[in-house]
Amino acid sequence: MRICEHSFVREDPDSPGYSLHEVDYYAWIPQNRGHVLPNHRLSLKRNLVTMEWEFYRAYHRGTTVRQIKAGRDVAIMVVHLGGDIEETAFKTKDFKAALDYGNAEWDRMHKTDDYEREPDMPCSHGGAYGTYTTLCAARKIK
Ligand SMILES: [Zn+2]
Repeated sequence: MRICEHSFVREDPDSPGYSLHEVDYYAWIPQNRGHVLPNHRLSLKRNLVTMEWEFYRAYHRGTTVRQIKAGRDVAIMVVHLGGDIEETAFKTKDFKAALDYGNAEWDRMHKTDDYEREPDMPCSHGGAYGTYTTLCAARKIK
């Protein structure tokens, strides 16, 4: 997925100094990776005071994971109860380095022999199809 750094400019009224926009890299970790870290969500936000990109882990106090089957479709529903405990996992001023960290953490927690994902890349804000996000806030229009 392409992620645009200009999407993180608005401040979160509930969290002054931080961007309203966040990107969740994952919302839970598989049980067989539970020895690495307790179950948590990993999200990217921007500190608008220091202008650093910050990843934080939100550890869930209570989580239920349910598999829902409808015909051949299978979905996983994750419900988190309130009161998550947050910790900063990584900070950088380099947007590409931030996305690289998120990609590596996703791989560490979720990648298997038959389950991978396309790594996130910075938005180019225009140009060739597929190099920018449709949500780009700074897209150059011809
Ligand atoms: Zn953009």
